[in-house]
Amino acid sequence: MTIKPLIILPDPLLRQVSKPIEQVDADVLTLADDMLETMYDAPGIGLAGIQIGVARRILVVDVSREGEEKQPLVVINPQILTSSDERSVYEEGCLSIPDYYAEVERPAAVTMEYIGRDGKQHRMEADGLLATCLQHEIDHLNGVLFIDHISRLKREMVIKKFTKAAKTKAI
Ligand code: ZN
Repeated sequence: MTIKPLIILPDPLLRQVSKPIEQVDADVLTLADDMLETMYDAPGIGLAGIQIGVARRILVVDVSREGEEKQPLVVINPQILTSSDERSVYEEGCLSIPDYYAEVERPAAVTMEYIGRDGKQHRMEADGLLATCLQHEIDHLNGVLFIDHISRLKREMVIKKFTKAAKTKAI
């Protein structure tokens, strides 16, 4: 397992729409392991392929609390089937937008179909933090970031800040 470098805002890769994975082969399993390793190292509770520069529809999450047993979940080609009318608000962050947090409102519960690391189709219902985390990561597969769900003014401020920081680093 390898810890991969993270893609950071304003890298245009983050706006790319990821392609489906056709077969869960050894390469995909290695990718999933690398993504988990990278996520735990950061540390974060979710990571999409594009965040390590791989534009494929795969994400990993683990919303277990510190001290609890780890609950790694590998999600391939996810599709949200239903979203609840009830909404919930969580303060979100993103490994690609370090040290920035904002409240985001999303459906409180979702039903999702996906392929697991066993190569089989699964269906799950999620609510609470897991539902928010899954929606945040699925957004990444479509080139959408959590700052797209906040006000334009706040979003522009964040993008400006990270664009400036990236330029400073380049020098
Ligand atoms: Zn993110």
